Amino acid sequence: MTDVIVVGGGLGGLLMGAELKRRGAHPVVLEASGKPGGVARTVRDAGFLLEPAAGSVLLPNPDLTPIFEAAAAVFDPALEGARTRFVYDRGVLFEIPESPRFLFTRLVSWRAKLRAAREPWTGAPPPGGEESLLDFFTRRFGADVGQIGANLMAHGVFAGNPEALSIQAAFPKMVALEAEAGSVVRGAMRRRKSRPKGTRRASVHVAHDGMTGLAATLAAYLGDGFRADSPVTDVARDGKRWRVTVDGGGHLGTDAVVVALVPGGAAKIVPDPLAALLGDRPTAPVAVVGIGGPSDGLRLPTGFGALAGPDAGIRALGILFESQYAGGRAPVGHELTKGIYGGAADPEVMGLGDEEIVALMVRELTEVTGSPVRPSWTRVVRSSIPQYPIGHAAWMQRVDAGLAALPGLHLCGWGYRGIGLSSLGSEAVRIGSALDDWEGR
Ligand SMILES: Cc1cc2nc3c(=O)[nH]c(=O)nc-3n(C[C@H](O)[C@H](O)[C@H](O)COP(=O)(O)OP(=O)(O)OC[C@H]3O[C@@H](n4cnc5c(N)ncnc54)[C@H](O)[C@@H]3O)c2cc1C
Repeated sequence: MTDVIVVGGGLGGLLMGAELKRRGAHPVVLEASGKPGGVARTVRDAGFLLEPAAGSVLLPNPDLTPIFEAAAAVFDPALEGARTRFVYDRGVLFEIPESPRFLFTRLVSWRAKLRAAREPWTGAPPPGGEESLLDFFTRRFGADVGQIGANLMAHGVFAGNPEALSIQAAFPKMVALEAEAGSVVRGAMRRRKSRPKGTRRASVHVAHDGMTGLAATLAAYLGDGFRADSPVTDVARDGKRWRVTVDGGGHLGTDAVVVALVPGGAAKIVPDPLAALLGDRPTAPVAVVGIGGPSDGLRLPTGFGALAGPDAGIRALGILFESQYAGGRAPVGHELTKGIYGGAADPEVMGLGDEEIVALMVRELTEVTGSPVRPSWTRVVRSSIPQYPIGHAAWMQRVDAGLAALPGLHLCGWGYRGIGLSSLGSEAVRIGSALDDWEGR
């Protein structure tokens, strides 16, 4: 018995399908390509393991952990290096440790730190509407810390523009903390105190077999409920039910459909007027550049990676020190690093060929690490990241109103309510419980 069809077998659709199965439903996940995993398909070559999209996740997580446990997905804690992060700015690699020592970083002046320390006593948000990431951060933490913080978060998570991204849509937890406690810092401290004693703190984890391994595990958990080579061309109302058309595979009838595609993909298959609302959403192109080589020709700092500050003077948005925080990403005696290029700030870089972009990263990595870089292995993977500009939260409300008129139809994936795996997990749980409570089934 098939009661829910999920369209799209990226991590969003797979988590959705696995959550439905965990709840006792009989979902079928239809994936257009031959393999599960979507943009997060791991590159494995010559002993290197490059994650071109999601590379790590904070666990435990209240939504993801039960799904991973049900599917028997295996994660490894990150190496100790994951606890140290860097910011590259003004020609200096500033260490930002995961401890109160971060207060002593020379990335910003003491004057700027003193202003940021007044955050708990800073005024209320402007009435109504959405605020940009940059406006939110500078209002709360002052111009200097605010500008750096907004840039790092925009580049590090969305490869986006801090002046364009909506804080409400892109980082809703920060807005919730401000709403709860009148301050982000006070809100975070209150939440930490209210956590039951003995609760394990979330820390960085990596998929044991790479994200492709995770996708394969989730697909295996779905059994014959995962179907590759099944591109969906139409999702249409059929009385009180839904009819899903698969190219070359006929029609499938179902009570409920979850379309786990980016808005542009969903727009091609869902009915109007919802389809018209979904088309034309902004995305930012990115190039993920992997550089590997023997350790004596690729000296990486011990840490998770370095984000580029506003005055970094390099084109990389960030450089992750892959083999320093995740085991198994490079052969013994070798290192692997990956740079993220492009984004809303620098889409022109996408015009460079793979060899040019690798040469650019070699130059910049030499500058950032202060050591010569002699790669033996390189790879460039291009994709694009959905953007949540000002107006996205209001757009989501219109999308929700459109969905309310189409009972049994849902949307999930990284184009809507958060772009990381934790958001995909929350969406799976939210839609799973909505379907549990739904009288239409
Ligand atoms: C550079 C980068 C770094 C990232 N780092 C992290 C990180 O460290 N941690 C983290 O949590 N997240 C990270 N992410 C985000 C994470 O990778 C994404 O949230 C996630 O992979 C998106 O999955 P999805 O299923 O929503 O979309 P997609 O991966 O786009 O999946 C959609 C799937 O639908 C299929 N499809 C398309 N059209 C149809 C159709 N008509 N019928 C059937 N199937 C169809 C596609 O083939 C695809 O498999 C990163 C992303 C990028 C790009």
